[in-house]
Amino acid sequence: MTDESGRRRLGIMGGTFDPIHNGHLVAAEEARWQFGLDEVVFVPAGRPWQKRDVTPAEDRYLLTMLATARNPHFSVSRLEIDRGGPTYTLETLRALRDFHGADAELLFITGADAVLEILTWKDPEALLDTARFIAATRPEYDLGRLDLGRFGDRVSVIQIPALAISSTDIRRRVREGRPIQYLVPPEVAAYIDERQLYRGPEGAGGQDGSSKPSGAGQEAGDGD
Ligand code: NAP
Repeated sequence: MTDESGRRRLGIMGGTFDPIHNGHLVAAEEARWQFGLDEVVFVPAGRPWQKRDVTPAEDRYLLTMLATARNPHFSVSRLEIDRGGPTYTLETLRALRDFHGADAELLFITGADAVLEILTWKDPEALLDTARFIAATRPEYDLGRLDLGRFGDRVSVIQIPALAISSTDIRRRVREGRPIQYLVPPEVAAYIDERQLYRGPEGAGGQDGSSKPSGAGQEAGDGD
């Protein structure tokens, strides 16, 4: 679907995806439907500057590829992984704007807390000029405290019950030996199992590359 001016509508799904789960997938599909997006590009964060001990980017990239492969409207970008250095959304959006030019309207989708963090970090005008933002929350979330209304119609909120699932909970479950079946796609569960991700104490196997992937995707370069 195109917007009023005939441009393609491109959803950019930003996240650390450590790991990606069904809540993310439901949110992306709901955003696609509600906003008439032609495509949703998942962009796993290369090195989230505000976080320590994140699973190596190549693992998170492959998990995202596996999770999205069956939806023809979903794709995955290595943009932030290959860029290296700390990940800033404004840089990503500018790169996508340069690439797509005026032919595409960009809508950045992520969690509501992260939207607020992005827009209060620096240069909100530049961010809001470059893209619209879709803040995904779970229904009982207190939106009042975010005060997203001040950004006008450039920021929209979508409520996604499936976001009761969280990456933090998935990691904890794996560590405790509890099931993650039905919370993540089967391919994601299989990869986590095969690579023995999230088995050690929270924080083990972080960005120092101590848990590097041994398989596909490595040759494409590792931004960590
Ligand atoms: P986070 O702070 O770890 O997540 C905040 C909340 O949002 C969590 O509940 C998280 O759940 C949820 N969430 C994260 N991504 C989501 C998505 N795509 N859809 C729905 N819910 C989502 O957020 P993060 O993953 O580090 O960052 C999210 C995005 O914002 C990334 O693209 C990141 O690069 C960007 N970001 C940019 C800046 C900046 O440029 N200054 C600052 C902060 C974040 P889960 O843990 O279950 O995902």
